[in-house]
This record gives sequence, C-alpha cells and structure tokens, in this order.
Amino acid sequence: MPQCLIPNCTNDANNNISIRCRRPNTSAIWAPNTVAFLCDIHADLGYSIDINFTIAPTRSITTNVSAGGHIETRTTSINHHP
Ligand SMILES: [Zn+2]
Repeated sequence: MPQCLIPNCTNDANNNISIRCRRPNTSAIWAPNTVAFLCDIHADLGYSIDINFTIAPTRSITTNVSAGGHIETRTTSINHHP
C-alpha cells in the first residue's frame, strides 16, 4: 500500500496525484501519474499547490511531489508525436 504524502499519516493511501497538459479539445499531450498518493481523509482537504516548470530537453516529464515530508519522484516519457 502506498504511503500517504502527508507527513506522519499512516492511513492507507489509494488516491493518486497526476498532472495533465490538455489540448483545447481536452485530449492530453501528456498526463503522467505521479507516485504520490493521499489517503481518503487527506484527499478531501483543500490544498495550495505550487507548480514550477523547468524545461527538460529529454521529452520526458519528471514530477517531484511533496507535502513537506518525503519527496516522491517519477520520470515518464512523452509518447505524443507532434
Ligand atoms: Zn493521509
């Protein structure tokens, strides 16, 4: 069972965080799931989320997700072909 992103939470965490870049028709250019999860209680709270983009010339998306504790990092390739 994944660990909840909130520090010191020991609840089962099944709710996955993802990020998406949508075209105007709502299809995704990329939409990777992160490896960050929230438990049901913490998923139901409100959050202020800071998103900072750094250009990576690798055609991949790396996500680093934290709520002040451990950092969950995942890199996925962009499979969309322009
Ligand atoms: Zn939690």
